[in-house]
Amino acid sequence: MIKAQKGTKDILPKDSYKWQFMEQKAIEVFQNANFQELRTPIFEATELFARGVGDSTDIVNKEMYTFEIAERSLTLRPENTAGVVRAYIENGMHRLPSPVKIWYKGPMFRYERPQAGRQRQFHQVGVEMFGLANPAADAEIIALAMNYLKALSIPNLSLEINSIGCKECRNGYRENLKKAIEPELDEYCPDCKMRFEKNPLRILDCKNPKCQELLAKESIQKAINEEFICPDCVEHFTEVKKYLDILGIDYNVNKLLVRGLDYYNRTVFEIKSNALGAQSAVCGGGRYDGLVEMLGGESTPGIGFAMGMERLYTLMPEITEPSIDAFIVTNFQEEAFKLSQKLRSEGYAVDFDLANKKFGKQIEKAGKIGAKYAIIIGEDELSSKTLTVKNLATSEQIKIAKDEICTKLK
Ligand code: ATP
Ligand code: MG
Repeated sequence: MIKAQKGTKDILPKDSYKWQFMEQKAIEVFQNANFQELRTPIFEATELFARGVGDSTDIVNKEMYTFEIAERSLTLRPENTAGVVRAYIENGMHRLPSPVKIWYKGPMFRYERPQAGRQRQFHQVGVEMFGLANPAADAEIIALAMNYLKALSIPNLSLEINSIGCKECRNGYRENLKKAIEPELDEYCPDCKMRFEKNPLRILDCKNPKCQELLAKESIQKAINEEFICPDCVEHFTEVKKYLDILGIDYNVNKLLVRGLDYYNRTVFEIKSNALGAQSAVCGGGRYDGLVEMLGGESTPGIGFAMGMERLYTLMPEITEPSIDAFIVTNFQEEAFKLSQKLRSEGYAVDFDLANKKFGKQIEKAGKIGAKYAIIIGEDELSSKTLTVKNLATSEQIKIAKDEICTKLK
């Protein structure tokens, strides 16, 4: 028996209608805000992620699906911001009217230890907006994330925001933090020891309980809470919060929130659900004003978010599973063929028996698959050019002229 690979899952027909619902809502919500879909390839040059995600991140260090083919190093995309930025640059999208507003969905790949809320192939839906550095853009993106989650009717979510400053002021903050951590550095986990040199801010969101404990100490808290960001960044963040207040969006400022990727600056945010256990984040996002330039484009500010669809799926309330409109019940298969073709072309979901089953079995099947109506064609109906339509929920039955069927179904 060949089995699905560890960390991958089939999305079965009994679940796929919910996935389609999530995708449909993404189209509605994002396109109502004038975002357009961009579909990028699933594999890219490894270099794109090494540079675009950053080589001090867990993603690049430990989680990449990298393979070599024809002496080229390729990687299955672990996230999609780098790919979207590559496509933006490569296709000259900076010439489009600003801001350029993109949304995407699709599978992502990370070689992580599979566990609840963590797969090796998972799906994200996300948006990116290019061309605006002002705080209104940050608020618009956060509001869009909240709107999407609202459209899915997911309850009890909390939004956390933070500003991690800009390239300039972050240096001072980083040094401060390093000074506060250094005396006890030996006690941190090996990952954090490495982060200490490469990307000390990432120590703040280490999931290791021992590290969390060390970070809760007063000396560290002081280093985090001191207003470290420059006046421009403070003002930017104040404005973002002002817009969120105007929009009636609740948030908590979390000074420990830094986000995993190297390229973020200023606003970072995360949306969490306490119904998810350890992997509680459904959405992560932030501003990345240096990324386009870093990947070879013209200097262009950007901001976006990505949501994990598997985690959204587990939080989704029940929705009605769509059922087919009608099942045709007849021993005259030719009639069933003709009528099903006609009804399907009119937009109705219709099925019928292809296996010459007995009449009674067909009626049974119509009920079992949850059809709304059975359309019955017996000898009588055939000779009188009529159809018997049975409402399978109420068992009510009426006879109609054959060519009335579309108006009756409507
Ligand atoms: P985490 O701290 O959980 O590892 P992350 O920082 O790696 O999160 P992002 O890169 O920000 O996550 O991805 C955005 C979202 O994608 C996450 O909030 C989560 O919902 C989802 N996600 C990330 N990795 C996985 C995975 N391996 N399996 C399922 N969903 C994932
Ligand atoms: Mg991760």
